[in-house]
Amino acid sequence: MSEENLAKVAIREKYAAERAKRLRPEGNAQYKRLDGEYKDYAKDPHMPVRERAPAKDHVTVALIGAGFSGLVVGARLKEAGVESVRLIDKGGDVGGTWYWNRYPGVRCDTAAMIYLPLLEETGYMPSEKYVRGPEIFKHCKRIAEQYGLYEKALFHTEVSGLEWQEDSQVWRIKTSRGDDFTAKYVTMGTGPLHVAKLPGIPGIETFRGKSFHTSRWDYTYTGGDEFGAPMERLADKRVAVIGTGATGVQCIPPLAASAKSLFVFQRTPSSVDERHNKKIDPDWFETIATPGWQKRWMDNFVENMGSGIPSEDLIDDGWTEISRRVRKKVLGKTPLWVARTVSQIGKTLKRSPAGRNPERIRAAFEDADIEKMEEIRTRVETIIEDTETAEKLKAWYPQLCKRPCFSDEYLPAYNSPNTTLVDTDGKGVEQITETGLIVNGQLYEVDCIVYASGFEFGANFQLKSGFDLVGRDGKFLSEHWAEGLRTLHGIQMHGFPNAFMIQMNQGANMASNVPHNIVDHAATVAQIISHVETNDFATVEPTKEAEAQWVELILSNQGSMIGSADCTPGFWNNEGQGWSKEFRQAQGHPGGAEGFFRHIEAWRKAGDFEGLVFGTSQDKAAVSQKPELVG
Ligand code: NDP
Repeated sequence: MSEENLAKVAIREKYAAERAKRLRPEGNAQYKRLDGEYKDYAKDPHMPVRERAPAKDHVTVALIGAGFSGLVVGARLKEAGVESVRLIDKGGDVGGTWYWNRYPGVRCDTAAMIYLPLLEETGYMPSEKYVRGPEIFKHCKRIAEQYGLYEKALFHTEVSGLEWQEDSQVWRIKTSRGDDFTAKYVTMGTGPLHVAKLPGIPGIETFRGKSFHTSRWDYTYTGGDEFGAPMERLADKRVAVIGTGATGVQCIPPLAASAKSLFVFQRTPSSVDERHNKKIDPDWFETIATPGWQKRWMDNFVENMGSGIPSEDLIDDGWTEISRRVRKKVLGKTPLWVARTVSQIGKTLKRSPAGRNPERIRAAFEDADIEKMEEIRTRVETIIEDTETAEKLKAWYPQLCKRPCFSDEYLPAYNSPNTTLVDTDGKGVEQITETGLIVNGQLYEVDCIVYASGFEFGANFQLKSGFDLVGRDGKFLSEHWAEGLRTLHGIQMHGFPNAFMIQMNQGANMASNVPHNIVDHAATVAQIISHVETNDFATVEPTKEAEAQWVELILSNQGSMIGSADCTPGFWNNEGQGWSKEFRQAQGHPGGAEGFFRHIEAWRKAGDFEGLVFGTSQDKAAVSQKPELVG
């Protein structure tokens, strides 16, 4: 065996050994929800709950969730002339994720030019390539104001009941605030990562100091603010952080700068690459911001993340670099200009002789990945002064096994004398006591524990959203989805008229730019609702056959590196428990994000609403066609 192959085998063995250490038989059940005895962790520290009279009226569209999904669908509906729309959210304002997550250092590491929706419509130029959380939150408010989405909105309100009324052909909506109103249509944009979770560490409830989840940051305790002011009240505090995922990576540097002492409890190190952030130059922005620019940028990102050979890389970030490396390996010695020429005449990498060989793609992927991960591990050694700490901060798994992180501040934080990495060797914190945390039998006494422990991902819709839809003939959505998700396009369900899901499963899925899924679904939903309204229909839903064919198409997806069961456990791969049928059924289009967006754009352009059935108020079927799926 060549030296190179020996090294590869050694790395594979190391990855497998690290994965084995982290695997926990209880999977997702290891976490605790913020309810029951932990319900106080869910309280809103950002805004007081305002008294208001319950809503007892009727609206055309109820948008459940006022994050990007509710905002963008609401905006598109207003543009289409649908005036009566109502946002409902458990937060005290719009923003969703960006309302709740105000922890120090909060920022989005997907490029703002493609992450912030409706930039063109609002005429807003992001200040930096990767913007801070407050700027994103402000943009959410900008959208709500521009499109008049505050007018009927209900905040600090949780939907408790959603039931289809066959007689009047409307949805009846009940909430935690005593609202009881109706809507002709409902959209569910409740988010993929909005239910915070705590680690199931024994003794968590016994801790007598201060503790909170990162999505409920308590600045009254820490001092400072989400804009970056120093947390002066931590100057005499010993602080613990549990979790070193994307959130931990962002909040650890400001904590290291403010706390008297900081202990970071690590179960799995994140891969942390350089960020390369920069200010956006208004002169440059003017040159690129020509009509249709944001769609071009979003499409370009998808193209770069896909299987073809993109003409250019507008975004040029850590994500597109991953694809670029794999592509280069697959193409081997083929000069790039030859590859481009091939691409221009319409042949994608998939169809090229190199691309047709799946073994070669897999090998190229592994080679590119090992190269990248070696670079990331070397970066740790270069930055971290203490060799033992450096070794512990090295990530031993393929980069796409967990969410890649990008930060220029995270690793240097460990060089601060007040900051200690407590590595748990994959086992997690053993126990929490009244005064601190135990790892390897050693007690670390602290005043405050920050849980950067993430959000529920695998849980079903009902558990995550807190309500179940009751559709036609009293059928619950949980029954409809008892054996896995069933939708057409990831958006509509048979038996649930006038209801729309705004989410990524059974659509473009992990396109790594979540808002692209939302912006695209919003276009589809607005087109469908406009068609119903213009033609005086009462209802719209997919046929049973169209839904079944869509599910079949999704199940033909062979899977990807993201979420692979061989990966180190995490929420991307069902905590390493393997792909159940339900998990597979929640994946995306087999053609990836590119395949889905191509299909749905063609579907919208065709304008014949293939696979949907429209009903009049007399409930007569108006259109019913068998779908023909575009691969
Ligand atoms: P994650 O689920 O990614 O991380 C949770 C962390 O808690 C992990 O490090 C996990 O370890 C650790 N943990 C859980 N249980 C224990 C335990 N018992 N003992 C010790 N450690 C434990 O959550 P995040 O909030 O960091 O990120 C969630 C997602 O939010 C990201 O993947 C991303 O999609 C999004 N996000 C995006 C950002 C952006 O810039 N766009 C910024 C922040 C978040 P282990 O890894 O071993 O499970």
